[in-house]
Amino acid sequence: MPENVVVGAGLAGLVCAINLAKEGREVLVLDREKRIGGSPVYHPSPEGTPLDLEGIKAYTGVDISPAVKEFTSGRAVIYGEVIPVDMEAISSYMVERGPRSTSLDSYLYSLALDAGVKFEFNKSFLSSDDFMQLPPNSVVATGLHFEGFDSFNVPYLTSFHYLARKKIKDVNSTHVTIYHDHFTTDYAYTSSINGVLLAHLFQRHPVKRDALKKFEERIYITEGFEFDHWEHFTFPVPAASIRNPRLFGGKMILAGTLAGCMESYMFFGIHGALISGKIAAIAVTDRGKAYEEFLKAVSTFKSAYILKKLLSFIPGNMYGAALKMILRRMSVDRRIGEFARSGMPGWNNSSTAKGS
Ligand SMILES: Cc1cc2nc3c(=O)[nH]c(=O)nc-3n(C[C@H](O)[C@H](O)[C@H](O)COP(=O)(O)OP(=O)(O)OC[C@H]3O[C@@H](n4cnc5c(N)ncnc54)[C@H](O)[C@@H]3O)c2cc1C
Repeated sequence: MPENVVVGAGLAGLVCAINLAKEGREVLVLDREKRIGGSPVYHPSPEGTPLDLEGIKAYTGVDISPAVKEFTSGRAVIYGEVIPVDMEAISSYMVERGPRSTSLDSYLYSLALDAGVKFEFNKSFLSSDDFMQLPPNSVVATGLHFEGFDSFNVPYLTSFHYLARKKIKDVNSTHVTIYHDHFTTDYAYTSSINGVLLAHLFQRHPVKRDALKKFEERIYITEGFEFDHWEHFTFPVPAASIRNPRLFGGKMILAGTLAGCMESYMFFGIHGALISGKIAAIAVTDRGKAYEEFLKAVSTFKSAYILKKLLSFIPGNMYGAALKMILRRMSVDRRIGEFARSGMPGWNNSSTAKGS
């Protein structure tokens, strides 16, 4: 087995592998699936997220802009009221995730192959015993899957999901419509990219079938879309590890969602995963320096965490009004985002680790 092993060929694992290979190392990436692109239940999926493309390039050495698209439209539907959301004002982009050639995963995979990274698929790590077979300083970036969280005792919450997808003719549509309503205590959305349309309802308590029915009705009234088949599944969310993020699991290095690394403005996963891939690569040679970078990345969670905590105290009937006010302000006031992200590596070139 080569000296450098990465488990998980997702965003964090691929960025980490590319960085290690560029240092001239022999790198092997192992993944449970039979090909690149993660779980066929989750993907292909259009994922929207705040990104600073220049900041990410400067920090990780990886230019993801060829795999990223601007939004054609964004809006929120709060208890039936439609509110336009200026996605550009919140620096948000859409990426495709999954196995298709148009995905960010496939793009990073091709960069990794060019850099000389080797891959082995159909390799599942199911327990801490499996992970302990790996050489010290192997990187574990297994994303939103229970095995990684359980094996390294990383705290998590379980979230409950309904997801449906279908093909659409308009391959240029990159929309997101975010729903908050009585049918979820969290949120739901529809989104599209490269001819794939997705609808996703979830919350941190079991979702009832009548809630799904109400979501379907709301989508039909607002957007005119209907779906034939819904997948139901659960996955771990690192909300609990946001208060307890960890870069190390014994001799192993943790990365991506498993490490509790997220984007600190909206608490989305993509920016954090990309940045954390670089931090994991630094950790292979210099645990101390990597830990300093990791603390910078996760210290930005405090303000967002406090804001979320305050929101959770707002009684149900006033929550919708508070959400509408925040959404309207987010679109016009960039200072909220700047405050939430201040010090986050990869934003506004606030920290540049390339070449370290
Ligand atoms: C349906 C869905 C929608 C999402 N929407 C958004 C969004 O709109 N915006 C956003 O910012 N974030 C979104 N996220 C979250 C985002 O995708 C993740 O935060 C991000 O992918 C985390 O990157 P990662 O590298 O940690 O893990 P991933 O990119 O998920 O990669 C994990 C890899 O590890 C492999 N793996 C898992 N377990 C094992 C194992 N036991 N053994 C071997 N290999 C294993 C998987 O096959 C996968 O290839 C969404 C997630 C899902 C599932």
